[in-house]
Amino acid sequence: MKAQLAVVNKHSSEYQSVNPFTGKTVKTFKELTDKQLDSAIETAQTCYETWKNKSYAERAKIVAKAAAIMHEQANDFAKLPTLEMGKRISEARGEVEFSSNILAYYAKNAEKFLAPVKLNPTVGEAHMESSPIGIIFCVEPWNFPFYQLARVAGPHLMAGNVVVVKHAGIVPQCAIAFEKLWTDAGAPVGLYTNLLISHEQSNHVVDDPRIKGVALTGSVAAGQSIAARAGKNLKVSSMELGGSDAFIVLEDADLEHTIKWAVWGRMYNAGQTCCAAKRFIVVEKLADQFLEKFQAAFKALKPGDPMDEKTTLGPLSTEAALLQLLKQVKGAVSKGAKVLMGGKRIDREGAFMEPTILTDITPENPAFRDEFFGPVALFFRVKDEDEAIALANDSDFGLGGSVFTKDVERGKRVASRVETGMMFINNISWSDAELPFGGIKNSGYGRELGNMGIQEFVNKKLVRTASMEAPV
Ligand code: NAP
Repeated sequence: MKAQLAVVNKHSSEYQSVNPFTGKTVKTFKELTDKQLDSAIETAQTCYETWKNKSYAERAKIVAKAAAIMHEQANDFAKLPTLEMGKRISEARGEVEFSSNILAYYAKNAEKFLAPVKLNPTVGEAHMESSPIGIIFCVEPWNFPFYQLARVAGPHLMAGNVVVVKHAGIVPQCAIAFEKLWTDAGAPVGLYTNLLISHEQSNHVVDDPRIKGVALTGSVAAGQSIAARAGKNLKVSSMELGGSDAFIVLEDADLEHTIKWAVWGRMYNAGQTCCAAKRFIVVEKLADQFLEKFQAAFKALKPGDPMDEKTTLGPLSTEAALLQLLKQVKGAVSKGAKVLMGGKRIDREGAFMEPTILTDITPENPAFRDEFFGPVALFFRVKDEDEAIALANDSDFGLGGSVFTKDVERGKRVASRVETGMMFINNISWSDAELPFGGIKNSGYGRELGNMGIQEFVNKKLVRTASMEAPV
């Protein structure tokens, strides 16, 4: 999928808005010329020179206004992800509201998070202060076309930085709508700039001396490419990459409660979530019952128009994404995996994939390590808690994970032993404005959201006052 999108961008110099429910091209947008790109960065730099000196209250006025507009116009915003990447309309509305909350959260809390911190040196006085560093280049994925943008815009603008953003090639209308939001909120020109640019141009943006930080959310391949480029330029970066999260079910789990989360955890956003439950690791004693109920719940999902509130299974983001997933399933089966249910495209118009469960995946099977970005659950049966933890940790990824047990203290012990950036006990309510989000290993580094998210791209400056003579 990635190769095909990249080719579209490279040769046609266009961003394409294609409805995955119908396969029809809705709109196309020309990429910026190098000259236009340079001018956009220059405008951002000029804006930064004044924005960095604004008070938190002045910044908050604009960021809070953007939050309010998103909330007021939630229905209009929500239609765009549904149109461009097939997100079910109720989920899209939820995403817009959440994006608005994130902006409001940083408008309210940034000053507190970035307040000077008093230190206690043995001699004199000292404090740390947090100051903005300049233009932050953000590269973002299509799967949460507004939430991902809010996650970077809210904190970094409130910190006094300005942002230039390369959004995914398949969601240009979302990208443009989010840029317009800032104009509507009264932002100065250059505060938030959407860049319709190619991968090659992205590399030049990372190299540009006016860019001081790089934040990417996306695949491991994109992370490796952009992080390497940022490293070569000695620029601070944060990487929010893929995952293959374990969903651990212990023998004392409440099965009814667990199944509901299992279905939501795998199927939300048509399975295209970085921290979706992807590997279902169930202790032997509950395994058969779990599988029976899991299959029944998957079978009950109804594919349909994602604009229709009654639809419970939307299409994948693109035809190419569907073909990639089908290829992965085929590859897994060729290496010995069994298809317990699904495994094929749904025989209808649109990029629809059958809800799928694969079993018998051995460590030699590439599926054991790969991320399945869609409605495909990998099922593993284990002897006990220790085996579940060992299997959960046998992954190149380390984004999130969950554990289901009636004994919360036991859940906490298991959570501590799983090597990921986030763990959830008896739920997988992944994201909240207040809570840090991010992973370890191939899932990347750095954190977004919460207090930690606003600390990623600020200068932590030590200021010390001491009345003492210089040593001889
Ligand atoms: P992707 O193909 O890596 O694309 C993400 C962004 O990176 C897009 O804007 C893409 O542009 C750009 N990009 C890709 N390769 C690039 C390169 N070599 N140079 C410059 N830019 C490049 O990922 P995706 O398919 O959109 O998103 C799905 C992936 O993101 C999954 O692996 C998912 O787990 C991960 N994700 C992680 C998080 C998190 O917070 N950890 C959240 C959401 C998604 P084009 O679209 O123009 O190619």
